[in-house]
Amino acid sequence: MDLTYRNLGEVHNNMRRVIEGLNDLPVTKENQQEILALLEEMEKEDIDLVRRRQAYEELSEKEEIGSTPEVVEEAVLVIMEDIESEGKFTEELKVLHERFEKGEVEEEEGEMEVVSTTYSKKDPITKEDIKDPVRNSRCGHVYDRESVNEYIQMNKKNRMAVYHCPVQGCKNKVNLNLQDMVDFSEFFKLCK
Ligand SMILES: [Zn+2]
Repeated sequence: MDLTYRNLGEVHNNMRRVIEGLNDLPVTKENQQEILALLEEMEKEDIDLVRRRQAYEELSEKEEIGSTPEVVEEAVLVIMEDIESEGKFTEELKVLHERFEKGEVEEEEGEMEVVSTTYSKKDPITKEDIKDPVRNSRCGHVYDRESVNEYIQMNKKNRMAVYHCPVQGCKNKVNLNLQDMVDFSEFFKLCK
């Protein structure tokens, strides 16, 4: 993608989506090296985007931004060299980097114990009665839709690295995410 001042934000948003995807991705022997290389690239790109934005802003103050794209690009590169900056996602990328470097191999999905066929009525997060049940397809545990939604949003907002299934003893070590939640209307028939 061509970088212009106008699409810098878009490129950064794409990066945010990739980071969110990686947050939900378990580390395996197969993906570890590939993801580490990707993260290194993203770390550089993240910082470059911030520096580039600042360079454009400096340039526009000098009113040179209306020149031809080649002239602008050249001027931007020169200014960028003198800018030192953190990236926008430095912290998130660092957490991911550490997790993939550590190479903690997650348990295979197939080995996951299937949860028994009777369920507690209580949501494991709020400890209140479940009103709108959803089932985690990875481990079979059931939560209230609103409660698990809020729990995921809160953890993302606070940039937590780990927010596994909150059921005690659950072996599922993949962070909760909405894609894994499936409707579970049979729940009320199967309650204890
Ligand atoms: Zn679970």
